[in-house]
Amino acid sequence: MMYIDNVKFAKNKQETHGEIDISKVERIQEIDAYSGFIKYSINGDVDKSNRPILVLNVCGKITTLCQSCLDPVEINLDSSTVVTIFFNEDKLDAALFSDENSDVEDAVLAEEEFDVMNLVEDEIIICLPYTSKHDDCDGLEYHDDVKSPFGILKDII
Ligand SMILES: [Zn+2]
Repeated sequence: MMYIDNVKFAKNKQETHGEIDISKVERIQEIDAYSGFIKYSINGDVDKSNRPILVLNVCGKITTLCQSCLDPVEINLDSSTVVTIFFNEDKLDAALFSDENSDVEDAVLAEEEFDVMNLVEDEIIICLPYTSKHDDCDGLEYHDDVKSPFGILKDII
């Protein structure tokens, strides 16, 4: 567990980084049997509207089983997100969901004990593909002898 005062962290332009063993993250294991190590970094900053932000990077390789052929498949994760810190829940909701001019990618509330690992895990979960498959996987091969229409035609003639 690692907690930061997220506003102070941002305004002081602090930085933290580390690595997560995906196989030990319960929330991710509940989704699928993913394994691998993901590196993360969080950089505090202030955006041009003077709002505190956390720039979150996650990258690494996750392995799971291809849902089509059941062989292992590697998923490359490489994502960078700007997380804006809000002091007020209504403003956060507006920026994320209703303000059409909002440039906010992701947002959290100001917290003195902000859970860093929770943020990183959320980001990894968002980046997981909807289905895990090899890019051009045809699935299990049944080797069934389906005759081509021309072969069937030849048999008739
Ligand atoms: Zn496959």
